[in-house]
Amino acid sequence: MAVAPLIFALLGDSPPGRGFLIDFSVALGFVGLSMIGLQFALVARFQSAAAPFGEDAVVQFHRQISYVATLFMLAHPALLLVQDISLIALFNPVTAPWRARFAVTSTICVLAIMITSIWRRRLRMRYEVWQGLHMLLSIASALFALAHIELVGHYVDTPWKRVLWVVMTAAFVGLIVWVRLVRPLRRLGRPWEVEQVTAERGATTTISLRPVGHDGFTFEPGQFGWITVGRSPFALTQHPFSFSSSAEADGRVQMSIRALGDFTSSVADLRPGTRAYLDGPHGVFSPDRNEGPGFVLIAGGVGISPVMSMLRTFADRDDRRPCHLFYASRTLEDTTFLEELRELQRRLDLTLVLVLEIPPRDWTGERGRIDQAVLGRWLPERYLRMQFFICGPPPMLDAMESTLAELGVPAAHVHTERFVFV
Ligand SMILES: Cc1cc2nc3c(=O)[nH]c(=O)nc-3n(C[C@H](O)[C@H](O)[C@H](O)COP(=O)(O)OP(=O)(O)OC[C@H]3O[C@@H](n4cnc5c(N)ncnc54)[C@H](O)[C@@H]3O)c2cc1C
Repeated sequence: MAVAPLIFALLGDSPPGRGFLIDFSVALGFVGLSMIGLQFALVARFQSAAAPFGEDAVVQFHRQISYVATLFMLAHPALLLVQDISLIALFNPVTAPWRARFAVTSTICVLAIMITSIWRRRLRMRYEVWQGLHMLLSIASALFALAHIELVGHYVDTPWKRVLWVVMTAAFVGLIVWVRLVRPLRRLGRPWEVEQVTAERGATTTISLRPVGHDGFTFEPGQFGWITVGRSPFALTQHPFSFSSSAEADGRVQMSIRALGDFTSSVADLRPGTRAYLDGPHGVFSPDRNEGPGFVLIAGGVGISPVMSMLRTFADRDDRRPCHLFYASRTLEDTTFLEELRELQRRLDLTLVLVLEIPPRDWTGERGRIDQAVLGRWLPERYLRMQFFICGPPPMLDAMESTLAELGVPAAHVHTERFVFV
């Protein structure tokens, strides 16, 4: 799809070539633009498209392929200048024709997207501000680039090539309308209500949500949803949280949220009856999709949420396959769901390995971080056949991925959920 514009340009009557460098530069510009257009589809949360890879892999791919698209877009004017340095005049915003102004503005938008995405934390930009800016700049860069192509007119000047461009542009605009208008409109008709707010250990709050006037949805243990609370479903910012409740529950869902920033810290103050909108379920981090003779679950901090959903679901299903849970927490007091996990040991074949960073004085269990030595002490003999689910802070995920590879666990048996998209 990324090279489709080149195929359009080659088909039928083509204008005479303008030398390799110019044609190559134009080709890079076209491909760069269609790659940027495709990003809108990549991040539009189409579940069937994300399912084979997992949502975090799709976001990771979005990030990396965007560097390539930006390079192509920058190479387009750079090669033109190599061919003819006098074209530098096109960069003067006062004297340049509109076709060049649109191109320069589009490129500035792309560079702004890159800078704010790579250095968001260093620029101390709030996530919500970044997200809004990211969307506006992306739409602006694509529209300015399309205006540039239209005004230059080369390679798109026969009637049916115009039709193809109109179709491509319409698909792009349609995607935005679908994501920002049609989907929120659908959610408007399927509201949820906060039914209960429960304080948990470790600065964590569980909110229980009840569907209002509809049946809710079914989800797989380990999946997540995007939530908007107290605002309209059209709100720009939604927050992703894993479901922590059993997938066998009656249409209600729970999310367990640790206070780490402005939104997550406000959750404890939510009142029962507050309106909420849920987009979900999303994600492929689920034992239902990766069956095995047993499971090794590795959780760090609030990464216990989706794992809790898995264990509660296993208990409701009376599923006695062996589970080994390695759970890293700062202190015993911070260990969310501690009591319920001990309780679940009675209903499941569950080995619980708590790894505390700052253990109490009389602690005889594991301490420090989950590492190869800890895994080695507790993994069952036939661990290579088991399915591994890891959820927690990114450094822990990175460490676990390489440790499990060293232990010979096949990559296909290792499933991760990263709680940070950007
Ligand atoms: C698939 C997935 C599942 C998650 N499940 C849970 C869970 O079960 N429990 C839990 O406590 N946390 C979970 N998180 C993390 C949670 O979404 C963020 O901590 C939360 O959105 C932070 O919002 P804030 O305004 O409180 O924090 P801020 O201080 O604004 O942000 C802290 C960091 O969180 C991330 N973040 C902030 N806002 C968003 C947003 N709207 N969308 C995506 N990321 C954002 C950014 O990396 C940011 O730097 C999950 C994240 C993902 C991606």
